[in-house]
Amino acid sequence: MSFCVAIDGPSGAGKSTLAKMLAAHYQFCYIDTGAMYRAIGLYVLRCGESPHDHSRVCELLEQIQLELFTEDGDQKMKLNGEDVTKEIRREEIGMAAAGVSSCPQVRAFLLKTQRALAQKQDVVMDGRDIGTVVLPQADVKLFLTADPQVRAQRRYQELCEKGQQADYEAVLRDVCERDRQDETREISPLCCAQDAVKIDTGGCSIPVVFQRLCDLIDQKRGALACSI
Ligand code: C5P
Repeated sequence: MSFCVAIDGPSGAGKSTLAKMLAAHYQFCYIDTGAMYRAIGLYVLRCGESPHDHSRVCELLEQIQLELFTEDGDQKMKLNGEDVTKEIRREEIGMAAAGVSSCPQVRAFLLKTQRALAQKQDVVMDGRDIGTVVLPQADVKLFLTADPQVRAQRRYQELCEKGQQADYEAVLRDVCERDRQDETREISPLCCAQDAVKIDTGGCSIPVVFQRLCDLIDQKRGALACSI
C-alpha cells in the first residue's frame, strides 16, 4: 500500500515549497493538483472562453489531455502535448484555475487522475481538497495557512525576484479573491479536514516548519511499521 501525505491550504501558505522538500526527502512523488486546475484554466482562456461559463468549460474538457511528468527532478505539466509548466504560473491563470475549479465536472475529471496517481506510488499531494475529498484516508494530513498579508508579501517578492512587474496591493487583492472563491464554492471548498494538523507558517522559517512536518511523518511511518 502506498503512503500518502495530503497538504491543503490557501495560496501562498508554503504548500508547494514544503511539499517538494518532503517529496525529495522521503523520495515520494510530488503531485501539484493546482497545476492541473491551472492547465484547464489556461486552455479555457486560450479558447477565448470565460472560466466561469461552466457549460462551455464542460464542452472544452473533452478536448483536454493533461500529463504530469518529471524532468531533472522538477514536476512539469503538459497540456495536449505542450509543456505549459511556466505559463500556468502566471497570476491570471491562477484566477482562471479558481474559476474552473467550482465546476463539478472539472473536479470529477481530475479526481480520478489524482486518486490513481496516489494509488500506484507514495505521494505528497498538495491542493485545496486533498485531505477532505481526494485522499480522505491519507496517512498524514496537513493544513498550512498564514495571514493573507503574509501570503501576498511572499507572492509579491517571488514575482519581483523573477523580474516581473508586481504591485503588492493588486497581489493582496488577488490572494483575498482567490481565498473567497476557494472557501465559498459549493463543491469541495477549501477547508481543514477534522483530522488534519493545522500549521500557521507565518511566523516560522521554512526549515522549522519542514522539521515539524518530518516529525509528524516519521511518527506515522514508525507507528505503521510497528503495526505490521
Ligand atoms: O495551488 P494553486 O494556486 O496552483 O491552485 C490554483 C487554483 O486551483 C486554486 O486557487 C483553486 O481554485 C484550484 N484548486 C482546487 N483544488 C485543488 C487544487 C487547486 O480547487 N486541489
